[in-house]
Amino acid sequence: MSLDDDLKALLSDTQRFLRQQAELYGDSLLVSRAAVETPKEEQIIEKEKPISTDKNLTMLREPEIDMFGDTKKVNKNKFNLDYPAESWTSAASIPLLNQAINTCTKCGLSGTRTNFVFGAGNPKAEVVVVGEAPGAEEDAQGEPFVGRGGQLLTKILESIHFKREEVFICNILKCRPPNNRDPQPEEVELCEPYLWKQLELINPKIILCVGRIAGQSLLKINASLAVMRTKVHDYRGIPLMVTFHPAALLRNPNWKRPCWEDVQKFRKLYEEIKGKNLNPNYKSQY
Ligand code: SF4
Repeated sequence: MSLDDDLKALLSDTQRFLRQQAELYGDSLLVSRAAVETPKEEQIIEKEKPISTDKNLTMLREPEIDMFGDTKKVNKNKFNLDYPAESWTSAASIPLLNQAINTCTKCGLSGTRTNFVFGAGNPKAEVVVVGEAPGAEEDAQGEPFVGRGGQLLTKILESIHFKREEVFICNILKCRPPNNRDPQPEEVELCEPYLWKQLELINPKIILCVGRIAGQSLLKINASLAVMRTKVHDYRGIPLMVTFHPAALLRNPNWKRPCWEDVQKFRKLYEEIKGKNLNPNYKSQY
């Protein structure tokens, strides 16, 4: 008998065995483990194949559950920005939003923070001040702008007739980057939607960004602070101005004068908006 004849006989025996097994057990065949184990290379390829059995399709259709245990939905906010599909996006007030997000662990800063720093002030403020991230003092107290820079910010606001409690003060990031390093792009990407929601709920008439990073993050531009300071920007329908971060003024007192000039313009623009005398060309006026 040749090798071919041997193989044909083996194949015929196998087919007969499988037919018998099918008759006995239906589709569930009893075969040895060696016969069903897939070589490792094939297992790798298998993982990349689309899932196509009916059972798995049913599993894929099931709703996903997010970090708060609710059904995921993709929402657009009033600024036409895509919120992540998470339940906090439906928070109806500033305190409820705080409750929903203050245990956030979406980025690594959750592991190094002492306190989550949501922001503070009037939840219906006409003016929102946005910085980049909490510093050491803010991290320790869980409040924004409470160190020396924060005291200077309070004075700057008072110099243009705003009480601190009358405005809302917050940051792009809600947790402190270690050693006050600059926020990383992926941290901003994860955290910034919380700020969008804050702005959506507060609905301010005007925004003041303090520092280059806050300005660049909100405006999505790569301009220097010197350039951003020179004009009034439009943040999705809300006038926005950029000036120095108070901490930078502490390091460079020579910048206090130009900052004072910036905030004078900011107050003037605010008065125009309040008085509804806002020139439609306001962006080129300053
Ligand atoms: S920085 Fe923002 S995204 Fe990161 S853990 Fe804190 S709250 Fe969450």
